[in-house]
Amino acid sequence: MTDALPDGVERRRFDGAERLATRGEPVYGEPTDREWRAWNPDRSKLGAMLELGMDVDLAGGDDETVLYLGAASGTTVSHVADFAGPTYAVEFAARPARDLLSAAESRPRLFPLLADARKPETYAHVVEADVDAVVQDVATRGQARVALENRRFLADDGRLLLAVKARSEDVTRDPEDVFADVREELAEGYEILEEERLEPHHADHLGIVARPLG
Ligand code: SAM
Repeated sequence: MTDALPDGVERRRFDGAERLATRGEPVYGEPTDREWRAWNPDRSKLGAMLELGMDVDLAGGDDETVLYLGAASGTTVSHVADFAGPTYAVEFAARPARDLLSAAESRPRLFPLLADARKPETYAHVVEADVDAVVQDVATRGQARVALENRRFLADDGRLLLAVKARSEDVTRDPEDVFADVREELAEGYEILEEERLEPHHADHLGIVARPLG
C-alpha cells in the first residue's frame, strides 16, 4: 500500500468530496473544477487501484511511456494521457474507438490504435520499445495471454498494471479459481508484486501489479 500518486494526479475536492483528479478536457461527464477533472474509480480499474492505495509505480511526467490495452472510449486512458508522456491506446472495437479519437483531439500525447491486443505484431511498428507501463483492461477471455503477448513492449524495469475480470474468463466459476489460473499463467513471464480485489468499485475484478521476468 502507498499513498504515492503519479505526478499530475492529485486528490482534490469536487462538490465537497475528495476525489482523484487529473488536468485535461472532460471525457465522460465527470465533474470539473477549472482545469481539473475528477477521476471516477467506479468507472476505471486503474482509478480503483490508485484509490485503494495500490503501488502502481507510475511516476507521471513527459518521459513516462504507456501502452494501454482495451482503451474503449477513453475513460481511463484519457486520465493516463493527462499525466504521462506518450500513451498508446489499443482498442479493437470501432464504435468506442470513435469516442477515443475525440478524447485524443485535445491530448497530443494520446495515440489511439484500432488493433487487436492479441496480435501485437500489428502495432509493433508504432509503439516505441521499452515502455514504462503496460496497463491492461480488456475484459475478454485469455487476459493472462494478452499480458504475456505484450510483454515484448515493456522495459525490463517496467510494470504491468492488469485488471482481471473473472466473469470474462468464465461466468460459471468461482472468481478466486479464475484468479488462481490467471496467476499461474502470468508466472510464465511476470512476477506479481501486489494484487488486490477491486471491490467496492468493481465486482469480481482483481488488480495486479507485476514486473516482467528477465
Ligand atoms: N479500459 C477502459 C476504461 O477504463 O476506460 C474500459 C475497457 S472495457 C472494460 C474493455 C475493452 O477492451 C472493450 O472496449 C473491448 O472492446 C476491448 N477489448 C477486448 N478485447 C480486446 C482485444 N483483444 N484487443 C483490443 N481491445 C479489446
